[in-house]
Amino acid sequence: MNIISLAFDLSKTVEVFISHARRYFYEVMLSGYLCPQCGGNITMTAESRCQCKSCHYNFDPTIAFQRCVACEGKPTLKICRYQCTGCEQIIQSRFVFEGNIFDNEYFKERMRQSRERQKQNNQLAIESLIENRSESLVPGYADLDAIPGLADALDGLSMGPEIAALLPLCKGFDLNRYQTHLQEHIGPIEVCFDDIPPLEENERLDRIWRFVAVIFMAHAGLIEICQEGQTIKLAKKDETN
Ligand SMILES: [Zn+2]
Ligand SMILES: [Zn+2]
Repeated sequence: MNIISLAFDLSKTVEVFISHARRYFYEVMLSGYLCPQCGGNITMTAESRCQCKSCHYNFDPTIAFQRCVACEGKPTLKICRYQCTGCEQIIQSRFVFEGNIFDNEYFKERMRQSRERQKQNNQLAIESLIENRSESLVPGYADLDAIPGLADALDGLSMGPEIAALLPLCKGFDLNRYQTHLQEHIGPIEVCFDDIPPLEENERLDRIWRFVAVIFMAHAGLIEICQEGQTIKLAKKDETN
């Protein structure tokens, strides 16, 4: 019995099943809706995106057809969620089969701003390096005994109760596993930290570990982090920079 070949067959069958399920889901969700411009039949072209078969009008069915259950307000796409324009509550799109929906214009603009900032920072760094160039420096050896009590203070710091309290959190943490998982979910377009699926059953621990891995990856220059209010957004670092 060739288990590997059977596994590939199974994964192929699942893929076909998902694509059928997606098509069926879209058909059911669009049934009863017609093109708002010409009344023609419509078909889905992507997550929460559809097109009229007659006049080729391309539009977002969540915004066109869905209304807020609380106040009948129209949804608007805010970064990666639909929000009611009336009462601002989150509206779950009926036209998204799996994954997330993104406000492409917003992300395009954010990426442009980020590249611009990076360029300015590089320029500033170059200018400041030129201004502050000093004579070559020959550093002496670090001598822990040079300052009385320094060695004891360092011991106290590295064995303190703060570190001991963090130990249970470190147990079982596999940075590589988290890093691989994050790399699979973070692309050049920003994603919200909370939209990355968990790896661990323990939600709190998973959040902490995910966050630690994010910090490591940002430190290694693999990703960029930016925070807006309560939302943390992550994007793969633009390699052209
Ligand atoms: Zn039409
Ligand atoms: Zn509302």
